[in-house]
Amino acid sequence: MDFMKYFNNKKYYCEQCDKKFDSQDILNTHAKEIHKKTLLKCSNCGKTFLHEKDRLHHMREEKQTEKENRKIKGYK
Ligand SMILES: [Zn+2]
Ligand SMILES: [Zn+2]
Repeated sequence: MDFMKYFNNKKYYCEQCDKKFDSQDILNTHAKEIHKKTLLKCSNCGKTFLHEKDRLHHMREEKQTEKENRKIKGYK
């Protein structure tokens, strides 16, 4: 499966120019140097985002997932 290989190898892509990178670190450096952006970090998992709205969206989803996981485990 070529697609999966590609997906796994180049997981991190720049939203500004669609370039793909091997690691979050390289993407961070690229975004800072090329686009003069500071990436916003999710305080939960450390994932980074270029736009605040993306980060908020991600964090909302993360909370939702957490709730559902708790339900599955039987907590209230
Ligand atoms: Zn870029
Ligand atoms: Zn997160």
